[in-house]
Amino acid sequence: NTIIHNGQTKLQIISRQDKVGMIARDLVYDLRQAIYRDELTVVYQPKHHRSGHIVGVEALVRWTHPRYGFVSPAMLVMLAEDSGDINKLGNWVFEQCCITKAKWNKEGHHALTMAINISPLQLNDNALPAFLTRCIQQYGLSTDEIELEITESSEISDSKQVEKILQEISDLGIHLAMDDFGMGYSSLLHMRRFTVNAIKIDGSITRDVLTNSTNADIIRTISALGKSQKVSVVAEYVETLEQREALVEMGCDIFQGYYHSPPLKPEDCSMYFLSHRIEGAH
Ligand code: C2E
Ligand code: MG
Ligand code: MG
Ligand code: MG
Repeated sequence: NTIIHNGQTKLQIISRQDKVGMIARDLVYDLRQAIYRDELTVVYQPKHHRSGHIVGVEALVRWTHPRYGFVSPAMLVMLAEDSGDINKLGNWVFEQCCITKAKWNKEGHHALTMAINISPLQLNDNALPAFLTRCIQQYGLSTDEIELEITESSEISDSKQVEKILQEISDLGIHLAMDDFGMGYSSLLHMRRFTVNAIKIDGSITRDVLTNSTNADIIRTISALGKSQKVSVVAEYVETLEQREALVEMGCDIFQGYYHSPPLKPEDCSMYFLSHRIEGAH
């Protein structure tokens, strides 16, 4: 007797779940090899100041799996967090970013900040500040050229250890940005517990700024908070000129999104920098 559920037999559902489980196990195994097999790359998305010039880029990891093709970074990071490979992945991304930034500096693009996403789990690693320092020195960079984007999470709001590491990193002169601001846990609290240089309003809030008046109010409030704390306010997912203009009017300082540019390969970034005026760091 087959149980029919949403037009599928129970057997089909079970076998599909098995398949998902198998793929997940495959992916964890493959992720460990991916770094050495040159399957991971990093792309960089420009961030523009309200007056137009580029202030920096955000680094985003990409994985092209030999069989499954594009694996989303959200999935990749989740797998790495679950399997205990997040420090290895995070450190690899960080080193790639330092290599790229050093190359850009040589080409004369000094005034740009390199922003790198960090999983909250990486902040449990006591060796992280020393690793960052070593990497930055090795490639001849200075700490204030680097910004870490930290996603709000329960890990961050609950842990003294994480707070200590973040303060240590901030004391080194590395900038900190609160990513996905407005979505997670007690955003306002964090700003008082460690030094934040920037807040990035979550894309889900900025994307419908033209049609959702509640979100528009949230953005105005976050912008006012940023101003009073002398923290720059970044809007992500800016896809159209109309959105950009509305966000400027609401007090955002920096803009990132497909309106300006998608994430680019390092070589294409160099071209992009040349074709846009670069001025001051912030
Ligand atoms: P995020 O840090 O909030 O990054 C912004 C995401 O928005 C990126 O997605 C970017 O490609 C996408 N995006 C940029 N402009 C637009 C736009 O105009 N419209 C829309 N709809 N999307 C836009 P992506 O690359 O898929 O990354 C997703 C998330 O994965 C990131 O969110 C970040 O949390 C995480 N992630 C990516 N790379 C890394 C990494 O190297 N390490 C860690 N720990 N996390 C990473
Ligand atoms: Mg980010
Ligand atoms: Mg974000
Ligand atoms: Mg996000």
